[in-house]
Amino acid sequence: MSVHSKLYEGKAKIIYTTDEPGVLLANFKDDATAFNAQKRGTIADKGTINCSISSKLFQELETHGIPTHYIDNPSPGQMRVRAVKILPLEVVLRNIAAGSLCQQTGLPLGTILKQPLVEFYYKNDQLGDPLLTRDRLYLLELATPEQLDTITHLALKINDVLSNFFQRCGITLVDFKLEFGLDAQQRMLLADEISPDTCRLWDTYAGSDLDGRVLDKDRFRRDLGNVEHAYQEVLQRVLKAVDGN
Ligand code: UDP
Repeated sequence: MSVHSKLYEGKAKIIYTTDEPGVLLANFKDDATAFNAQKRGTIADKGTINCSISSKLFQELETHGIPTHYIDNPSPGQMRVRAVKILPLEVVLRNIAAGSLCQQTGLPLGTILKQPLVEFYYKNDQLGDPLLTRDRLYLLELATPEQLDTITHLALKINDVLSNFFQRCGITLVDFKLEFGLDAQQRMLLADEISPDTCRLWDTYAGSDLDGRVLDKDRFRRDLGNVEHAYQEVLQRVLKAVDGN
């Protein structure tokens, strides 16, 4: 496979076209941003760590019948993926209240939700990724009702698979963000990445101090320190859980 040209550069990845039709190369970056890119920094080795974690999680999901864009890892920090047209939606799944859910509803941090909450945000940096209602989503023609049903069904199944997987890692899956895209055959594939950048992951057995349990990008967002260590820790536990299969 040879790389052709840069197709797109986002906050965490650069996407290149390749000489294989329908195949793109994602290059994961160490750059970290938060609060709609108002806070910027780098996290050492984040690109290779997130690429490895995402790859393992995509493979785990594939074995449970979830279609993803993942193909393989040609080298550290690089992922070959199927080309898809990304829907401009951020699909957020929540099991425990944190982040914007607490800020917008007043629910106390750490409240266990009776059932998983599925939310849709408009992927639009200029507008600050606002929370959508279904009617607004249809108004903007961001997805059809059938596509939204497919996405909701997949997202709930992904939550089940990942919650179980992370449980085996001694990690509680608090919430996470997914992106979906359509391939040339109009198949809905899970795309983007699943990593400590896009999930809230709490060490299940690390004691009662919540901040001490955080193993995700909140360590960067909230200046909690030991950011690289947390990302490494998640990778090591994911690799161990995969080996234990
Ligand atoms: N998230 C993400 N990208 C975004 C917004 C949120 O990956 O642009 C993830 C975030 O890491 C968390 C979940 O989605 O795991 C829910 O985020 P929330 O709505 O609470 O927003 P935040 O508090 O991160 O601003």
